[in-house]
Amino acid sequence: MNLSATAAAAGPHPLPSYLNADELGPWGNYLQQVDRVIPHLGHLARWAETLKRPKRILIVDVPIQMDDGRIAHFEGYRVQHNISRGPGKGGVRFHQDVTLSEVMALSAWMSIKNAAVNVPYGGAKGGIRVDPKTLSPGELERMTRRYTSEIGIIIGPNKDIPAPDVNTNEQTMAWMMDTYAMNTGSTATGVVTGKPVDLGGSLGRREATGRGVYTVGVEAARHLGLEVAGARVAVQGFGNVGGISAKLFAEAGARIVAVQDHGGSIYCEAGLDVPALLRHVAAAGSVAGFDKAEVLADDKFWDVDCDILIPAALEQQITVHNAHRIKARMVIEGANGPTTPGADDILQSRNILVVPDVIANAGGVTVSYFEWVQDFSSFFWDEEEINARLVKIMKNAFAGVWSVSQDRKVSLRTATFIVACQRILHTRQLRGLYP
Ligand code: NAD
Repeated sequence: MNLSATAAAAGPHPLPSYLNADELGPWGNYLQQVDRVIPHLGHLARWAETLKRPKRILIVDVPIQMDDGRIAHFEGYRVQHNISRGPGKGGVRFHQDVTLSEVMALSAWMSIKNAAVNVPYGGAKGGIRVDPKTLSPGELERMTRRYTSEIGIIIGPNKDIPAPDVNTNEQTMAWMMDTYAMNTGSTATGVVTGKPVDLGGSLGRREATGRGVYTVGVEAARHLGLEVAGARVAVQGFGNVGGISAKLFAEAGARIVAVQDHGGSIYCEAGLDVPALLRHVAAAGSVAGFDKAEVLADDKFWDVDCDILIPAALEQQITVHNAHRIKARMVIEGANGPTTPGADDILQSRNILVVPDVIANAGGVTVSYFEWVQDFSSFFWDEEEINARLVKIMKNAFAGVWSVSQDRKVSLRTATFIVACQRILHTRQLRGLYP
């Protein structure tokens, strides 16, 4: 971190150095997004500083015994950005590039997202700096359990509820739930969401984020006069979010012309066979090597001629360096934070509609909310009901931010931040300051 930048930005209440946007990491991007919304917050702007400071940051050492007898240490994080509207809520990421800045930003985007779709949660996020592909199943389980135990002091069904994110899944959540249960002596299924259905998980949760991406994508396309049937779609990331989004768009008649993941990029002018590609990825671990497509150079992915681009991998993929090359009419952000503020400006100036992460990928947390409610009542709904409620919430939320963006003549991202920040700061004001 650049301490002189901290001092320069200090003002009367200097931010601690780890909170400063000295470099455009994900947290810096988030701070810029907040700055853009403050002029729209009216009297609530008085409380806006609260959005720039996570409520609580926990950094934990995660030591485990490896299969060969060595002791390895991993660095883990859990950040609760804001809990004014309810318990913290947000995923856990296992990735070699996880940093505190990233987890802070992801936790803050969770606060915004949960408020944008009006589920009664604050924002939180966690992660471990590790490439899980280098661990054996036993090592992965021990690491997950030790991490859960270490963050156990701040999580709980009424405190902070983790969920899956990049490289974590239903099995990870099952281990987390079991570890919490062992430590507390109670089976509180609601401590995590995204669990297996047989352990109190919800039907429809696995597909929920992709279904939400698809639902708001269709709404946005309607406003643009863009037919989804026949539209050309490019997807970056073919995991939970990218894979399901691609499947639903393909089922609606769109052509998935290009896909990129960590292993490579592929192209098919006629449209990829998505079910076959999903089977290939399940077996091979990547889209690379799929024989019914051409290989595309990774950097060429951004030049692909398409109507809809869905970044569904990691942050900071669309930057000032490639935003001018994008040919899509709209970008639907399946990933969190895939577009930098500078790239946002370029896309807006080029009349490319960006449906921001904080609304586009909120389907996952919405069904996580349903899961948590079902766990508390021990009464489970059928998938039809879950999907219908999800679609209703996503459509209403999108309609709300669309009308704010039209009324105020701001981007959909700023409109979503306006709606969400007003909700968060209103509760902040109602609760007042303790003591
Ligand atoms: P995942 O682990 O299932 O899939 C991640 C995908 O990204 C994989 O296909 C991987 O190959 C690809 N990828 C990784 N590094 C890449 C790189 N350098 N270039 C191109 N592709 C790369 O994860 P996921 O759950 O699908 O999450 C993807 C994004 O969606 C993340 O930003 C996550 O925070 C966000 N998100 C996920 C959920 C959810 O419910 N899973 C909800 C909201 C937002």
